[in-house]
Amino acid sequence: MSLYIVRLLTESQFLTGIMLINLLYGYIIMLKITIIIIILVVSLIMCCVSRKRMHINSKIAKKLLRIPYSSEYMKSNKDCAICTTQFEENQQIITLPCDPRHYFHEACIRDWLDIRSSCPICRTNIN
Ligand SMILES: [Zn+2]
Ligand SMILES: [Zn+2]
Repeated sequence: MSLYIVRLLTESQFLTGIMLINLLYGYIIMLKITIIIIILVVSLIMCCVSRKRMHINSKIAKKLLRIPYSSEYMKSNKDCAICTTQFEENQQIITLPCDPRHYFHEACIRDWLDIRSSCPICRTNIN
C-alpha cells in the first residue's frame, strides 16, 4: 500500500517535471519568436527610412547643375574633393548651390548625397 503511494507520488512528480520542462521550452520558443519578430520589424523600419532618405537625395541630385569641366574656367579646384582624382576635360561635373566653385564628379556627389545632404567642402545643407 505504502509502496503504491510512493510510486504514485514519484510518477506525479515526474509528470510535473515534464510539464515544467515543456512550459519552459514553450517560453524559450516564444521568446525566440518574439526576438525574431522584433528584429524583422526594426530592419523593415530601417530599410524604409533609408530608402526614403535616398529617394529625397536622388531628387536633390536631379535638381543640381550639371556642366562639363573646363580647366580654363575652373582653376580653383582641379580635383574632386570626394575621390581626390583630377577632373578630365569636358567631364560631367555637378556644382552645388552653396558655391559655384564647389563642384564634384557626378557619381561621387550622388554617392555622397545618399549618405548625407551637405556640401563636402563647406558643410552647407543642400535642399
Ligand atoms: Zn570624384
Ligand atoms: Zn559648398
